[in-house]
Amino acid sequence: MLQLSKRAQNLKTSPTLFLVAKAKELAAQGHDVISLTVGEPDWPTFKIPSEAGIEAIQKGITKYTAANGTIELRKAIAGKIKSELGIDYSAKEITVASGAKFIVFTALQMICSPGDEVILGAPYWVSYPTMVELADGVPRVIECNEQDHFKITPAKLEAAITAKTRGFLFCSPSNPTGLQYSAEELKALAAVLRKHPQIVIISDDMYNRLVFDGSRVAPHILQVAPDLRDRTVAVNGGSKAYSMTGWRIGWAAGPEKLITAMGDYQSQATGSPSSISQHAALAAIQNCEPDIAQVTKILTGRRESGLKALQSIPGFKTAPPDGAFYFWVDIHAHFGKSFDGKVIRTSKDFCDILLDKFYVATVPGIECGTEGFMRLSFAVSDETFIRATERMKELVAALK
Ligand code: PMP
Ligand code: GLU
Repeated sequence: MLQLSKRAQNLKTSPTLFLVAKAKELAAQGHDVISLTVGEPDWPTFKIPSEAGIEAIQKGITKYTAANGTIELRKAIAGKIKSELGIDYSAKEITVASGAKFIVFTALQMICSPGDEVILGAPYWVSYPTMVELADGVPRVIECNEQDHFKITPAKLEAAITAKTRGFLFCSPSNPTGLQYSAEELKALAAVLRKHPQIVIISDDMYNRLVFDGSRVAPHILQVAPDLRDRTVAVNGGSKAYSMTGWRIGWAAGPEKLITAMGDYQSQATGSPSSISQHAALAAIQNCEPDIAQVTKILTGRRESGLKALQSIPGFKTAPPDGAFYFWVDIHAHFGKSFDGKVIRTSKDFCDILLDKFYVATVPGIECGTEGFMRLSFAVSDETFIRATERMKELVAALK
């Protein structure tokens, strides 16, 4: 009999990617599916990186590069981080990989020994706990509540730290809530972390350029606590800000010892990220500030119209997001009601009915570790989002 490893037996597929596949399957069967699942911009990759990708193919930039990325790209990333966060990094303190997902995964592989704990707050990005487990670590999940805007408080962080804590992983603006830590809140978390030098901080900054208050970049822990630089890994990539999800480029900046280990791990696992994509990402970093400003403006408008539409649905409560492109909607009010004789007890029940009967795909909050909510992406046109909310209204009206 085919035997899989213990690791394989415990492995869950990514719920977001599973839901995307399910929505596509329903669409292929001829249903008019509206997908608000995947965290992916609906606009194309910007023109300049697209052309740079073509140029890379035409000029033969199609071979292996250094496993941790080309020196040109790593230098450009260093320049970008300097301009955004005011922190200096050398090219040796930066590694580039096939997506930020693999960057977070690799960082965890390099800091966890069996049984080491990594603190994360729920709601979390769907993949974090499994990534910790795949590194033989133990996710230590802090429940964050609505009152605290789903953010970890310094007291909760302090209480979760043990002698085994090796990592603190967080994302701001957050996937799934869109809420971000203020500079003051980050300062307070840094004050706790400063007392525990064994903790490596992984700051997932994937959405830090997509913010709605007119700032260029979201507040960052290294801006308020630069002394933590030597144990902080700042993660980012091309997927969100440059709409380059399919190009698979992510990067990390951090202490040389850890970044070198991550690069070595990559060299044994995936090898270098795509040379074509690296060439395109370099062009994006060098040229696409105006494009980011433009899409942020579009997202800000969608946030307004999306919030208005959600407010018109009885029983829905949504905190206005600070950044990213997600609404985190409180659907507790509908628990205990039934649709076609089926009682809704969980966010999965609600989202399943929404998909199976109304063909709107969403992410149940429980996949992000918090029950009673659902995540909706608003990286879709206003018209698509409004059509989706109309269907949600129909569902809510049909509940008994
Ligand atoms: N972190 C967060 C919070 C994300 O939402 C994503 C989205 N996929 C990633 C990391 C990884 O992005 P990618 O692998 O596409 O670079
Ligand atoms: N990060 C995106 C999301 O949360 C992409 C899907 C994934 O990689 O899981 O939907």
